[in-house]
Amino acid sequence: MTETIRFACQPGCTKCCDMEGFVYLTEGDLNKAAKFLNLTPEEFETRYVYRTAHQRRLRKPRASQCTFLTAEGCSIHSVKPTQCRLFPFWPHLLESRSEWEATAKWCPGIGQGELVQIGAALERAEEMKTAYPNFF
Ligand code: SF4
Ligand code: SF4
Repeated sequence: MTETIRFACQPGCTKCCDMEGFVYLTEGDLNKAAKFLNLTPEEFETRYVYRTAHQRRLRKPRASQCTFLTAEGCSIHSVKPTQCRLFPFWPHLLESRSEWEATAKWCPGIGQGELVQIGAALERAEEMKTAYPNFF
C-alpha cells in the first residue's frame, strides 16, 4: 500500500450493502440494534440473527443481501454493525494493494475526499480485529 489513501463515503450509495457476503455482529452491535428497534436482544436475535458457537451474523433475506437495506439506505444506520461502520478500513483490504484496488473498482468512495494516512487507517482496522477476533 502507499503511505496515504483517500476515502469519502458517497451520499446515496449503498453498493457495499449489496455485495455478496454476510454481516457479522458483535454482542454490542446486537444490543444497540435491538434497542434502536425497541426489541429485547432476545427478540432481535430470534428475528434477525443466525448464531453458531463462534460467531453471529444477520440472517440473509432471499431478495437482497441485508434485511435492513432499503431504497432510502440502511434502516439502522445510526447503530449499524461494526463491519459496516468501518468499511472499507478492513485489515485484509488495507494490507493488500490488490485487494484495495479491487474494492476501489466498485466502491465509489475510494479515491475521494481527504487524504488518510495509512497508519490512521490501520488503527481503524485494529477495531475490526478486536470486534471479530475469530476472523483475524
Ligand atoms: S460502496 Fe463505498 S461509497 Fe458506497 S456506501 Fe459503501 S463505502 Fe460508501
Ligand atoms: S446493516 Fe445497514 S449498513 Fe450494514 S449491510 Fe445492512 S443495510 Fe448495509
